[in-house]
Amino acid sequence: MEVKKKDIRALSKEELRDFFVTNGDKAFRGNQVYEWLWTKSAHSFDDMTSLSKDTRQMLDQNFVINHIKVDTMQRSKDGTVKNAVRLHDGLVVESVLIPTKTRTTACVSSQVGCSLDCRFCATSRLKRMRNLNPDEIYDQVAAINKESLLYHNRKLSNIVFMGMGEPLMNYNNVIKSIEKITSPEGLGMSPKRITVSTSGVPKIIKKMADDDVKFNLAVSLHSAIDAVRTSIMPFNATFPLKDLKESLEYWYEKTQRMITYEYVVWGGINDKKEDINALIQFCKYVPCKVNLIEYNPIDDGEFQQASPEAINNYISNLEMHDIVVNVRRSRGKDIDAACGQLANKS
Ligand code: SF4
Repeated sequence: MEVKKKDIRALSKEELRDFFVTNGDKAFRGNQVYEWLWTKSAHSFDDMTSLSKDTRQMLDQNFVINHIKVDTMQRSKDGTVKNAVRLHDGLVVESVLIPTKTRTTACVSSQVGCSLDCRFCATSRLKRMRNLNPDEIYDQVAAINKESLLYHNRKLSNIVFMGMGEPLMNYNNVIKSIEKITSPEGLGMSPKRITVSTSGVPKIIKKMADDDVKFNLAVSLHSAIDAVRTSIMPFNATFPLKDLKESLEYWYEKTQRMITYEYVVWGGINDKKEDINALIQFCKYVPCKVNLIEYNPIDDGEFQQASPEAINNYISNLEMHDIVVNVRRSRGKDIDAACGQLANKS
């Protein structure tokens, strides 16, 4: 019977060092392999040219490298790049490179599909198949970093966990991937340049505060009125705004770091004065800023971007209350790479 080879990237550096010692080699060989796997993102043992042929063969006999493969890559008119990424078991997720004048941001997926059912989001139409492993998340970032160097001549500057899936429903693997992304042996990025965006899972937000994570937290709020929020994010019925508020207060008390609220204004849904007043009230709980995000209608057209007047109303009222508000234009609309549009159409 053929023995199933183990994914070498599931091994820690210590385990790799032990493997070489057990096989009569020097421990530092493990360091070399680790560097090839993570810093240099080697896709095959043959790529590891600083190792002898015998060592490469020995690795090949014992392990596989379950690397992701960028199946298709689409480039938008505005420079945005969308990757459809095939995982080792054939499933596909999407990740996006978003360039601006000053930064290049990777938007990565944390799950195949999503178990939440936000009604405005294309990903919610895909059943959650499984969580991504830490290395599958890491690989998306490494692939986008390469594309950033290729197309924009600069390294990736920021990462947002805002692709497919709810990152806090895959918390342990997201944390492990961030450890690798920020490690000097990985991509060496600062955690301050990473933002995890969640629909709001109060228990995990508190856990993140206890774990003293150093990355930024964003919450897809979209309404500060329970009935409205539940109608567009049914998940809110289980974790209502009072629980979210309490967890955010806990987060701020422990970390002293402000929160970003992601907020889309839809016509006829959350474009009224009472919606604005509720958001202003919610913004008083902890130091925060608001990103008003342009909406990209998905197929059925049930949700439509609010009128410019309604959006201006939000901006002027928030500013009147000294709340920092940024308007975020969505990018990559022509290739379905914009916020809420990731649905494996390709
Ligand atoms: S918005 Fe995020 S959490 Fe909600 S369904 Fe889409 S991917 Fe899942």
